[in-house]
Amino acid sequence: MSQQTKYLLNESQMPRFWYNLQADLPKPLPAVLHPGTMKPVSPDDLAPLFPMSLILQEVSQEREIEIPEPVRDVFQLWRPAPLFRAHRLEKALGTPARIFYKYEGGSPAGSHKPNTAVPQAFYNKEAGVKRLVTETGAGQWGTSLAFAGSLYGMEVEVFQVRVSYDQKPYRRAVMETYGARCFASPSTETAYGRSVLAKDPHHPGSLGIAISEAVELAVQRDDTKYALGSVLNHVLLHQTIIGQEAMLQMEMADTWPDVVVGCTGGGSNFAGIAFPFIGHGLRGGPKPRIVAVEPAACPSLTRGKYAYDFGDTGHMTPLTKMHTLGSQFTPPGFHAGGLRYHGMAPMVSHVKELGLIEAVSYNQVDCFEAGVLFARHEGIVPAPEANHAIKGAIVEALRCKAEGKVETILFNLCGHGHFDMTSYQKYFAGELTDEHYDEAELAMALAGLPSVPEPV
Ligand SMILES: *Cc1c(COP(=O)(O)O)cnc(C)c1O
Repeated sequence: MSQQTKYLLNESQMPRFWYNLQADLPKPLPAVLHPGTMKPVSPDDLAPLFPMSLILQEVSQEREIEIPEPVRDVFQLWRPAPLFRAHRLEKALGTPARIFYKYEGGSPAGSHKPNTAVPQAFYNKEAGVKRLVTETGAGQWGTSLAFAGSLYGMEVEVFQVRVSYDQKPYRRAVMETYGARCFASPSTETAYGRSVLAKDPHHPGSLGIAISEAVELAVQRDDTKYALGSVLNHVLLHQTIIGQEAMLQMEMADTWPDVVVGCTGGGSNFAGIAFPFIGHGLRGGPKPRIVAVEPAACPSLTRGKYAYDFGDTGHMTPLTKMHTLGSQFTPPGFHAGGLRYHGMAPMVSHVKELGLIEAVSYNQVDCFEAGVLFARHEGIVPAPEANHAIKGAIVEALRCKAEGKVETILFNLCGHGHFDMTSYQKYFAGELTDEHYDEAELAMALAGLPSVPEPV
């Protein structure tokens, strides 16, 4: 009996709309606050950073937002993305569960991030913007924006967190191939970067610092805007194409997930696969369990505080209510670089507070073990970030085995790991360790949260 392993959509089945979970939320998102006045920000407050089309998406309550035709044309380079049934992994685990994964590693950057980089570059181009500045942790977002910028003939400047700039020279080479300029952050390009270097010339950098540098440059010039690869509502919105496609593919497979699993750094690929299923459940459809998996070394959803905080270390961004480890928290240098952010997307934090999702954390060594098992049975070498989702799916599959349950598990394989082989080498050499955050440092970072008056 032949088993179907791959579910493909044709181009005419590619979703024409992004799905906006804000339309179906039982309780609206807490307001975003201006750090000076502590009053809700207006769209105009954000105009120095983003084009108005994206700001309007950020606050939109419309359920469906049309994907522009030219963006859909670019998406055809890698979308619709395949959904696979992991028959061989199921057999290796001896589980009665059915495991499916959506694969986002087929994009030019090798991850889900071009799903938002392309529309962000498109809307900026439409608004007359000439230059985009951004930060990147592991390099995937910088690569994605560099790719998107090259399509639209825009300049792209990327502040790459110092540790990953040093550890991942090939990422930088890819960004430069697309024509982007890359700086190790903290850098001497900005006043904020210089102030950090003055205190510590060997600072390893963090996403929070790199964001401050990019924002500082963006607000200085009218022809320059800032682009963020995760966290914001419009970014999560753009990623919902993942879950919408997966829904069509689950129908093709004649099943529906009992559990949906994704890894969370800033929350965008998780939201991409999960939000369409959550919304479907809120509108009366089946309600799968939704599981967010994060690294034990940067546990914002499971150990952070749900509070107003800055998105960056230099305190230039508005205040959002989210699960946070504190904007001064420097996560240890573990290898899933894309998951090293002190905060969490406000939308993901909100659905966690509403009890619509669960969150778990795993150590990186356990996640690499899961990723290697996956590679040996399914063939794809996963990104270290994706290993967290795989670990989460395997835990669910083994639970099904123990309970004798035939459940359907869906997870998002958000990227391949071809640029992360140093971390695999370290894993095989037994040099990968589980770096736990320092309790005292965490307590200090949380003590520094801004005080925000309770809304009346
Ligand atoms: C950036 C990245 C992540 C983390 O970002 P999210 O916004 O949480 O999705 C996870 N996996 C990969 C492959 C990434 O590139």
